[in-house]
Amino acid sequence: MTEVVDAHGHYVPRGLFDAVRDAGGALPSLDVVRLSSGRDALAMPGLDEVRPMPEILNSATTSLSWLDQQRIDLQVVGTWADLFGYQLDAGEGSRWCRLLNDLQWEELHGEPRLVPLAVLPLQDPAAALREIEASHATGYRAVTIGCRAGHLELDDPSLEPVWAELAARGMAVVMHPSFHTTERRTSDLGLPNTVGRPHDTDVAVARLVLSGVLARSPATRLLLMHGGGSIPLLWGRLERNHAITPGTTDPERSRGCLWFDSVVYRPEALERLVSFAGPDRVLLGSDYPFPIRDPAPRRVVDLSSLASDVKDRILGANAAAFFALTRKVPTVPDGTQPHPTQPHPTHPRREVITTADRRIEVDHGPSFALPQVVSGAEHLSVFSVHDERIRPDNQAKADGAPLRVLDSVAAKLDVSKRSVEDMGFWHRSTDYSEIIICIRGALLWETELGSNVLRAGDILVIPRGVAHRSALCEDSAEQNVLVEVKVKDDLTYVGPRP
Ligand SMILES: [Zn+2]
Repeated sequence: MTEVVDAHGHYVPRGLFDAVRDAGGALPSLDVVRLSSGRDALAMPGLDEVRPMPEILNSATTSLSWLDQQRIDLQVVGTWADLFGYQLDAGEGSRWCRLLNDLQWEELHGEPRLVPLAVLPLQDPAAALREIEASHATGYRAVTIGCRAGHLELDDPSLEPVWAELAARGMAVVMHPSFHTTERRTSDLGLPNTVGRPHDTDVAVARLVLSGVLARSPATRLLLMHGGGSIPLLWGRLERNHAITPGTTDPERSRGCLWFDSVVYRPEALERLVSFAGPDRVLLGSDYPFPIRDPAPRRVVDLSSLASDVKDRILGANAAAFFALTRKVPTVPDGTQPHPTQPHPTHPRREVITTADRRIEVDHGPSFALPQVVSGAEHLSVFSVHDERIRPDNQAKADGAPLRVLDSVAAKLDVSKRSVEDMGFWHRSTDYSEIIICIRGALLWETELGSNVLRAGDILVIPRGVAHRSALCEDSAEQNVLVEVKVKDDLTYVGPRP
C-alpha cells in the first residue's frame, strides 16, 4: 500500500497574528481585532464579514492526530481562503503573501506529513510572477489560488504570464473557492458552502476553459476542490456552448489540465467523477478542519465500486504524481555531503517540459536566463553508493536489510552491499516491483521465474509478488554493490529488444 495523501487540507501559521502586529506599517490595511467572543480575528479589507480564525487551523499537532485517526500519511495544506488578500493593493498584497509563505514554510518545513502550498498576489500579475520565483526558491512546489483575484477573473489576459510561468516551472495549482458571496439568496441556510463554493469553481473553470487560457498553457496542473463543483456534469454543456459561441475554445483542449479532489461524500458521485476524469485524476481530499469536511474521507473511496487499483491511486499515488511529492527527510547517513552545485554552462533558450506524459517545447527567446532556483544544496543532493558511510545492514549480515536512501510515496531506493554470505531467506514483496541494478561485483539471483547472474551494469526486474533471493557466485567481488528501486506501479519494458 502506497502512502495515503489528503490533497485538500488547510493550515494557518500559529505566529500569524504576531507577525501582522509586528509588520505594522508594512501591512497598513490589516488589523488584528478582538471579537466579542474574546477570540482574535484578522480584519482584511474587502471581506463583508470578519470571521474568527478557527483555532484548530493553527494546530499542526491536532492535524497530525486527526490524520492518524483517519489512516492518512500526508496532508497537503492550503491557507484559509479568507486570507488570500486579493483586495490589498499591489505592494501590500505582495508583502502579505511573502510573510504568509515565509511563516508557513518556517512552521511546516520540519514536519514531513504536512505539505504547504504558497499563496500569490494575483491582483498584481507582475508581483505574482516575483512571488512564484521567491516561493519556488523557498522550496514550494505548488500554489493555491482563489477562483478569482478580487475583481480580476483568472482568465484575464494580464494573468496569462502567471499561468505560463507556473506551467513552465511544473508548479501544481490548487484552486480553492472563497466563502464570501454578495448574492443574498445564497447567503443563509449554509448555502455559501453548499452551492456558493462549487458555483465559484464552475464559473472560474468555465472561463479558463472557454477563453483558451488553459489550452495555451497545456502543461498546467490544476486541482479543483469539492469534486470540481458541477464541472464534470456541465462538461457537455460547455462543449455545446463552444459549438454555438464564436470566439470560444473547445473545452476538450483543456481537459488534460484538470484534476479533482474526492470531496463529494457519496460513493456513486465519486464513481461518476472517476468515469469523467479518469482513474489518474481524482485525489483523496477532506477539507479538514472545517465543519463541512468529509469526516471520514477514505470511506467514500472504500464504499465505491471502483477497482482496487483505482482506489489505491485515489488514496495516494495520484496525489504523489500531481504534487511530485517526495519525503522531506532522506535517510542518508550523517555526514554525507551534497556535492557543490556546478555553475550552469550556457543558458539554453529552448526548454523541453515533460508533464503528464506529454512533451512541450518552449522557446524562451534571447533574453531567457535559467532562474537560479536551486539556492540550497538540499534540493540537489548527490551521493555515491560507494561512500563508506553508506553501510547497509546486509554488508556484514547475510540476513540484514538494505539501506533506504531515498523515499517517496511512489518509489523507494535502497542500497545493498552483499559481501559475506548468501541471503538466508526468500523475499516476496506484495507491495512493490523491484528493479535491481548491479553497480559492482556479481551475484546469482534466484527467483520463482528463473535464475540469473547479475554483473556490474546489469538490471534485473522482479515483478511484484515474485519470491527471490541472492547468492554469491564465481564472479562475486569482495563487495557486491546493488541499487534496488522499489516501485508501486507495474512495470513494462519499453527499451530496445536484443
Ligand atoms: Zn477547503
